[in-house]
Amino acid sequence: MMIKVMSFIIPVIAIGVFVLTFVLMFSPKARGKMMSKQVKATKYMVDESKGDIESISTNMADATKDGIETTTRAIKKGFTEEDSIYCKYCGAKIDKDSKFCKSCGKEQ
Ligand SMILES: [Zn+2]
Repeated sequence: MMIKVMSFIIPVIAIGVFVLTFVLMFSPKARGKMMSKQVKATKYMVDESKGDIESISTNMADATKDGIETTTRAIKKGFTEEDSIYCKYCGAKIDKDSKFCKSCGKEQ
């Protein structure tokens, strides 16, 4: 039963494809119709995914902005932060990793 149905369907599909190819090859009108259908489908797809694409690009822009801000901050910090601190006792500028203040001699 199944084989009988298959042996009927397959030639029908083959002929259908053949006829369709034939028609498309020789009929510009049919080709145009097909094309416009395809264009419509593509347009529909684009319209459907437009919101997604927009939200993705917005998210990406935000992420990039955050990344740039963080990087900028880090660079700025790197440039402005000196390797020195101020003494807790006398306020003299001393090296960040020095144990004793070179001005008042107190331990940091
Ligand atoms: Zn000091």
